[in-house]
Amino acid sequence: MTKPFDPTFSALPTTIFEVMSSLARELDAVNLGQGFPDDPGPEDVRAKAADAVLNGYNQYPSMMGLPETREAVARHYAHHQGLNLDAPSEVMVVSGATEALAACILSLVAPGDEVVLIQPMYDAYLPLVQRAGGVAKFVTLRPPHWRFSEEDLAAVFSDRTKLVVLNNPLNPTGSVCPREDLELLARYCVRHDVIAVCDEVWEHVVFDNHTHVPLLGIEGMRDRCVKIGSAGKIFSLTGWKVGFVMAAPRLMKVIAKAHQFLTFTTPPNLQVAVAHGLMKDDEYFRQMRQGFQAGRDHLCAGLRQLGFPVIPAQGTYFVNIDIAPLGESDDAAFCQRLVREVGVAAIPVSAFYAENHVRNVVRLCFAKKTSTLDAALERLAKLKK
Ligand code: PMP
Ligand code: GLN
Repeated sequence: MTKPFDPTFSALPTTIFEVMSSLARELDAVNLGQGFPDDPGPEDVRAKAADAVLNGYNQYPSMMGLPETREAVARHYAHHQGLNLDAPSEVMVVSGATEALAACILSLVAPGDEVVLIQPMYDAYLPLVQRAGGVAKFVTLRPPHWRFSEEDLAAVFSDRTKLVVLNNPLNPTGSVCPREDLELLARYCVRHDVIAVCDEVWEHVVFDNHTHVPLLGIEGMRDRCVKIGSAGKIFSLTGWKVGFVMAAPRLMKVIAKAHQFLTFTTPPNLQVAVAHGLMKDDEYFRQMRQGFQAGRDHLCAGLRQLGFPVIPAQGTYFVNIDIAPLGESDDAAFCQRLVREVGVAAIPVSAFYAENHVRNVVRLCFAKKTSTLDAALERLAKLKK
């Protein structure tokens, strides 16, 4: 065959998460790269799924999701975030946040539309925008605060802007967007008639005194914001790939048209278990956060003791280190050394930028058992700095 494939995908490297996890397996490294907990996850939720597999719910569910799951999603967000969502017209269950992003971007972006992406950005965003024919306009965030300013938005927003994608809390930085920044972004969306796709998969994983503020709830955004959630993150079951899209009916109708030909539905047995999990009491969520926060504090204290400069994290499963003070200027090369010389897998944050704006930051996942974190720290102590 000599005819070229679609260049958007054929020119891409394999995602950094797969690359580092494969290396970790091959080299028997402690994997603090790809973000997943090494805890089995809530037993009652897993038991519900097992029961649903054995005792029913194995045929195609409705394309929009099981009614009980959509209802549970609406009730969950009413309770936790004060949102008022109409389950039959404003909630759709999809196969992970990844599918949600694809459905939103492919259905809302027309060729030639400008799309504002805020980098560092989750690696799926840009290829999807390009495949949709969109023209990406970047806002670039830098450590340690990872915040955008009004000048940053003014430089990229115009009446040609169709969509902005916001990830809050932000992977890989672990930062939480302050309310005043959300309000600023909302003003730009309203001023230029822009739709915001808000990837909020980390909404429940926030620490200290931070609370998650959904962009959908900010003034002016109710009818122009699409909210994306992921059960994988809410229940620490990252392989489940059950996600939610929430939006006003006008947006939902078109996003559903893309979903119907991406996956059409999501495994019903998992949907039953997720509906159960979403109704868990506040104590579950408090303990989940407390557990991850303890992991963050343990890893950060260990890293600081070893002389690694830590950039504070307010949420997600990730903490970052600044390798510039160690005399390092290439995060990708540094991660290769880490995994090959001492046996710890990490993620170079430059992988989340379209161009190499920031090359001195390395992401480590702390959503692990203390023994896993200690094993990683023991190995990191052997790194020749
Ligand atoms: N968006 C962000 C910011 C993520 O970090 C992830 C995965 N960790 C996803 C989307 C994908 O979520 P899912 O596994 O539900 O597809
Ligand atoms: N979101 C996870 C992370 O940031 C990985 C997801 C994936 O492997 N695509 O580590």
